[in-house]
Amino acid sequence: MTAVVGAQWGDEGKGKITDYLAQHADLVIRFQGGNNAGHTVVNEHGTFKLHLVPSGIFNPNALCVLGPGTVVDLAGLVEELTMLEGSGISTANVRVSDRAHLVLPYHVALDRLDERERGRQRLGTTGRGVGPAYSDKVGRHGIQLCEVRDERRFRERVAHELLTKNAILERFGDAPLDATEVADVVLEAAARLGDRIVDTLPLVEDAVARNARVLLEGQLGAMRDLDWGIYPYVTSSNPLAGGAAVGAGIPPRHITRVIGVVKAYSTAVGEGPFPTELSGPEADRLRERAQEYGATTGRPRRVGWFDAVAPRYAHRLNAFTEIAVTKLDMLGDYERIPFCTAYEIDGRVTTDMPPTAMLERATPRYEHLEGWGCAITAVTDRALLPLQAKAYLRRIEETVGAPVGMVGIGPERTATLL
Ligand code: GDP
Repeated sequence: MTAVVGAQWGDEGKGKITDYLAQHADLVIRFQGGNNAGHTVVNEHGTFKLHLVPSGIFNPNALCVLGPGTVVDLAGLVEELTMLEGSGISTANVRVSDRAHLVLPYHVALDRLDERERGRQRLGTTGRGVGPAYSDKVGRHGIQLCEVRDERRFRERVAHELLTKNAILERFGDAPLDATEVADVVLEAAARLGDRIVDTLPLVEDAVARNARVLLEGQLGAMRDLDWGIYPYVTSSNPLAGGAAVGAGIPPRHITRVIGVVKAYSTAVGEGPFPTELSGPEADRLRERAQEYGATTGRPRRVGWFDAVAPRYAHRLNAFTEIAVTKLDMLGDYERIPFCTAYEIDGRVTTDMPPTAMLERATPRYEHLEGWGCAITAVTDRALLPLQAKAYLRRIEETVGAPVGMVGIGPERTATLL
C-alpha cells in the first residue's frame, strides 16, 4: 500500500505521480482536504485539474474513493464528474464516504468573511469553504454526507446551523443565506450522485484482504499540515502519511511505501513564511518559465530555490521510502543553482524546521550547484541525464535523507524517469 504525499508547501506534482502509479492500482483514495486541491494530470486523455476526484480516475479498473477524512462540496463534485464525463472519462468507479463532511454554501461565505476580517493577517485560502467545514466538524456542528438520506431531518439541520451562521454573516454586513436554497443545492447534487455515496470501509477492508494495490493520494504538503506545518498558514487537516491512515480508514501497519513528492525548487500558494522565496525579476523568470500559477485559483505562485530543510523535515514526519522529484526540467537554463541546506536564525545555523514564529526570522544558507544548461525533456533513461542534473538529484538525496525513486522531466505521464 502506497501513500503519495507532498513534502513541501503543496503543488509538488502529486497529481501527476498518482496518475502515473494509478495505472497499476486497484483502489485510489483521497484521504483529506476538499476541492481546494488542484491536482494536474496530463495524459493521453488531455489535461485535467482535479479538485476532489482522485487522480486514479483515468484507470477504468481502479476504484476511486473520497475517504471519510475529506470534506465534500457535493455540487462541486457533480460539476467535476460532469467535466470528466464530457471528456469521455467514466466516473462509474467513484465512491464517496457517507462519513465525509459536507462543505455547505455557508462555509464558503464564512471562508470569505474570515479572510476579509483577518485583513493583513489573511491566510490566503482558496475561498472554497474547506477551513470552515473542518472547523464545524471539529466543533461538532458538521453535517455528514449520510445525513442527506433523511431529507426532512437534513433540512432541519441546515436551518438550525444557519441560525448562528446567518447571525455571523449579518453581523459583518454580509447577506444571510436561505435554508431552503442551501438544502436544495445539496439534495439535488446528492440525488445526482445516487448510490456513489457509500460506507467505504468494506471497500478498503476488501482491498486489504485481497492484497490489492492501494494508492493514498495526499493533498497539499507537510508544510501545510495542521499540526506540523506553518500554523496558522496551514490547511485544516493532516496531509502527512499518518493522516492517510485515519482519513482513509487504513490500519497504519498496511502502509508500506511512502512517496514524498518534491519539486526541484520551491513554490507556495497562500501566505506564511517561505525562506527561499524570490522576488522581482528573478521570481518572474522562474514563475514564467515553470508556469507557476495555482491550479484552483489561477493565482501566481510564490517561487523560490530548493529548500532542503522542508523536505528533510517532511521525511522525519513521513519516513519516505522514496522521493519523487518533479519539474527538474524547469532548471535547465541556469548556470548555477542556489540550493538551501540550512537556515540561520538569530545567529544560529540549523537544519531543523522551527515553528512559524521562528521560521519568520530564518534566512537561508545556500550552496551553489552547477546547472546543466540544456533541455532534458527528451531524456529516456535516468542514467542519461547530464552529470550536473544527476549531482543535483544526489544532493537532494543527501540533504533530505531518502532516495530519489522517480524524476519528472515534463508534465505528461510519460515524462517520468524511474
Ligand atoms: P499537485 O497539486 O501536487 O498535483 O500539483 P499541481 O498540479 O498543483 O502543480 C504541479 C504542476 O506541475 C502541474 O502543472 C503539473 O502538470 C506540472 N508538473 C508535474 N510534474 C512535472 C514535471 O516533472 N515537469 C514539468 N514541466 N511539469 C510538471
